[in-house]
Amino acid sequence: MARDTRALCKQCRALGKKLFLKGERCYSDEKCAVKRRPTQPGQHGQMRRRGRGVSEFAVQLREKQRARKTYGVSERQFARCYLKAVRRKGVTGEMLFQTLERRLDNVVYRLGFAFSRNHARQLVSHGHILVNKKTVDVPSFLVKVNDVIEVKSKSKKIQNVRDAANLASQRLRVPAWLESNPLELRGSVLELPDWAKMGLDFEDHLIVEYYSR
Ligand code: SF4
Repeated sequence: MARDTRALCKQCRALGKKLFLKGERCYSDEKCAVKRRPTQPGQHGQMRRRGRGVSEFAVQLREKQRARKTYGVSERQFARCYLKAVRRKGVTGEMLFQTLERRLDNVVYRLGFAFSRNHARQLVSHGHILVNKKTVDVPSFLVKVNDVIEVKSKSKKIQNVRDAANLASQRLRVPAWLESNPLELRGSVLELPDWAKMGLDFEDHLIVEYYSR
């Protein structure tokens, strides 16, 4: 499926949920489009149904889209993560989100080195991030226990990165499975997260039902 090129806020409005795609402005009720304009985007947005009377399939599809867009992955990447989760031991929904959480772009965001996952993906693909002292420029790289993730010393001077770290230290709570040193812009993976430690509000069973049709 083609990449969604709609404005980021429209993608949130279409799903009726905040996806936190833009960084700082997502935390402001005055600036967030989901709060300001809670209707669906487009000319007939006010007439479109979102809750009552919506089919089971539509509910499953919407949850899958919400997860996919939150992590900023393509349909194909998301389906691949799902297949990987099915093959692993454990609860499929939990394994799916564990894989998504372990993506390097997500970890950089969770550690507070970037304003958003989009920003984190850019930092990774532009070669600003080291994993165990080696440059990794693949956003889908999966981190392992004891991996050390840091911003390259040259890149630490980038104002944008410093600003993101300052804001994140005020806003974001680093999840318990990661350890972050915002001053050094360095972090590590303490363990692989279980569902409780991920602290997510997704209804994973809907996504599993979507792919099990
Ligand atoms: Fe979504 Fe952020 Fe835009 Fe709000 S400000 S609609 S959370 S991208």
